[in-house]
Amino acid sequence: MSVNKETFQQIKAELDSKHVTLVAVSKTKPVEDILELYNLGQRDFGENYVQELVNKAAQLPKGIYWHFIGHLQTNKVKLIAPFVQLIHGVDSLKLLKEINKEGEKNNRVIDCLLQVHIAQEETKFGLDEEELNLIITQLDNLKMANIRVCGLMGMASFTENMNQVREEFKKLKAIFNHQAELITRNSKPEALSIGMSSDYTIAVEEGSTMVRIGSLLFGERHGKQ
Ligand SMILES: *Cc1c(COP(=O)(O)O)cnc(C)c1O
Repeated sequence: MSVNKETFQQIKAELDSKHVTLVAVSKTKPVEDILELYNLGQRDFGENYVQELVNKAAQLPKGIYWHFIGHLQTNKVKLIAPFVQLIHGVDSLKLLKEINKEGEKNNRVIDCLLQVHIAQEETKFGLDEEELNLIITQLDNLKMANIRVCGLMGMASFTENMNQVREEFKKLKAIFNHQAELITRNSKPEALSIGMSSDYTIAVEEGSTMVRIGSLLFGERHGKQ
């Protein structure tokens, strides 16, 4: 097992003091590792594959808050709708409508973040600013009572250049500030989900309220995730 308990405790204390939520990204890691952090008090965990999330949730304590941080396909929403705490990567109205529909079936309000494309790479998912504006302006009219759009999520470029990463986070924070009133109109805790193992310190400096940290806590992953 490769859980870094001391690192966890340091990071957790640092983030708590700044009122930033730590989402422990447990993708590819066994349930035993998740339990280890759970027993140290961690409650928010993030996964990016639906089937993996469903399998793990079934084996682990009900008190865990599960975050879905991957790219969600509409036909898989129903699998996580009964229990998911927050869906980070929503990038279309079609997906929001599906989440709302499944939220209604499960008699829940499901919290969502809209994913904004801030990286320079073409490959990262997410909305550009215009698409984001369009979705936000339509939210009021559509009156989807079983979702709550409570913030934004983004991923910086995969680069060693931390100045570039900082600029990308700054850009998302500015968009977030600009949209904050609209996004949080019918919800309370607003969330800006930025920051991973390599860049969470910068993300926090730039206004992150929620970081998604995997390899620093659980050790490096193998394979291409
Ligand atoms: C894997 C992943 C993370 C965590 O990455 P680390 O570099 O291991 O901290 C964060 N966010 C998303 C969306 C991920 O897929």
